Amino acid sequence: MNKYKVPSKPHIYQNFINGHYKNSSGNETFERESPGHGAIIGQYPLSNKKDTEEAIAVAKKTFKSDEWSSLTGVDREKIIRNVAAIIRERAEELALIETLESGKPISQALDEMEWAAGIWDYAATLARHIAGDVNTNVGRDMTAMMQKVPVGVVGMITPWNFPLLIISQKLPIALAAGCTAVIKPSEMTPGTTLLLGGMLKEAGLPDGVVNIVAGYGDPVGMTLAESNDVDMISFTGSTAVGKHIVRASAGNLKKVELELGGKNPQIIFPDADIDALIDAVVFGIYFNMGECCNSGSRIIIHEDIAAGFEAKVIAHAKKVKVGDPLDPTVKVGAIINNNQFDKIMKYIESGIAQGAKVTLGGKALKSDRGSFIEPTIFSDVTPDMDIACEEIFGPVLSILTFKTAQEALDIANGTDFGLSAGVWTKDIDTAMYMTRNIDAGTVWVNNWMSGYPEIPFGGMKQSGLGRELGPHAVDEFMETKSVLIKMGATPGDWVG
Ligand code: NAD
Repeated sequence: MNKYKVPSKPHIYQNFINGHYKNSSGNETFERESPGHGAIIGQYPLSNKKDTEEAIAVAKKTFKSDEWSSLTGVDREKIIRNVAAIIRERAEELALIETLESGKPISQALDEMEWAAGIWDYAATLARHIAGDVNTNVGRDMTAMMQKVPVGVVGMITPWNFPLLIISQKLPIALAAGCTAVIKPSEMTPGTTLLLGGMLKEAGLPDGVVNIVAGYGDPVGMTLAESNDVDMISFTGSTAVGKHIVRASAGNLKKVELELGGKNPQIIFPDADIDALIDAVVFGIYFNMGECCNSGSRIIIHEDIAAGFEAKVIAHAKKVKVGDPLDPTVKVGAIINNNQFDKIMKYIESGIAQGAKVTLGGKALKSDRGSFIEPTIFSDVTPDMDIACEEIFGPVLSILTFKTAQEALDIANGTDFGLSAGVWTKDIDTAMYMTRNIDAGTVWVNNWMSGYPEIPFGGMKQSGLGRELGPHAVDEFMETKSVLIKMGATPGDWVG
């Protein structure tokens, strides 16, 4: 019998401000319906501008108090590492909430809790390695110190597709740097981020360092982006909203770090090991129902091997189990909401209208409760079609063909995005040429979507600004202050 069930009543959540849970000042709330079951599973505070400003004021006062940033690296490390342990302890409860709110399969949500905990572990280590630099090469009497100082209050705005994982790519690193934060999770999946507040307190984080406000982009996200008391915004979401954040943040020229959308190509050369890559292609597009920034949504394959590849990928995709996200054997769950469902179906219609051929799926799946879309494959796709260059964010794969490596590269680089890309070949020259010339923040060779806390992640072109993860991730949340110290007598000879 399946132990994961839809709860009989919704979970009631509150904002987390100054170390305490509280309702929104207007006592207003909003609800979330599970996209896989059509049941109301959460009630959250509908926060307003005043709530957001209160959270910002607390984060600013706490930052100014130095209570967090003046702790030693080892003390910050202990608290950050405690959070990793608490995430692991509560992984089942957190994964269930994410599956219910997002429609993602429970087995995948459980994996994500471990990935998230792993980033907290890594960030804990980084907390002990923050150090500036010294330059004694600027003259006998001069010593320059490059101090690393935390940027201040960071506003973090996150999307719905990997709620706890994405906040875990930002928050522990910012905490390692000594920053304070105000977090706005997506209105569709705020549950685990709101619970994180209590987990941080349990881990020993002082009150006021992290504040969490649930609600909509307007007003909560906009208030963060516009506030003169927020020193940096770290945003993950769509390219359109990312541009809005840049404009809104101009008031105090705050630092902005953006993780945005993608239309990620996988380029397959004739010498690739087709049997090995088929599973990676199917995983790359149907993982998280295709609602993934890293979705491998464009296959660009040499025309000589396209037909054989298509037959194999269709056969493999047919085996993907779609259905109740709470079933541990399901790989593709429900689509996040009706808007996204309609958007995906419109892209499928546009692919057909523009002349591409549906070779698998293409329809909504019949279900009494929840919204599901069949794993879909389009062949005969050309680079000018909408399904070839726009982010669909659904289980829809587009297959394009090429004759020469240059043509493959031109197609791959022919969109506004530059998040990630894949190259499948056993030829070292081809692999190196492609990795050097593809516009992407991450390029995978003979694999898809491997990732580690140690390895930076982020986008080129309109896929982002800055990098998360990796040893230099803390630098995104810090300023460099140069201090120049003169020894001995200083001759005052400017006026003469
Ligand atoms: P979205 O841009 O609609 O929303 C993201 C967040 O911004 C939400 O919390 C939302 O409430 C908030 N927001 C909306 N309007 C706002 C405004 N005017 N001012 C401030 N905040 C506002 O994105 P989404 O639909 O939640 O997520 C899907 C998108 O996220 C896709 O484009 C996907 O590629 C991208 N994404 C990127 C990465 C990455 O690491 N590059 C990871 C995951 C998702």
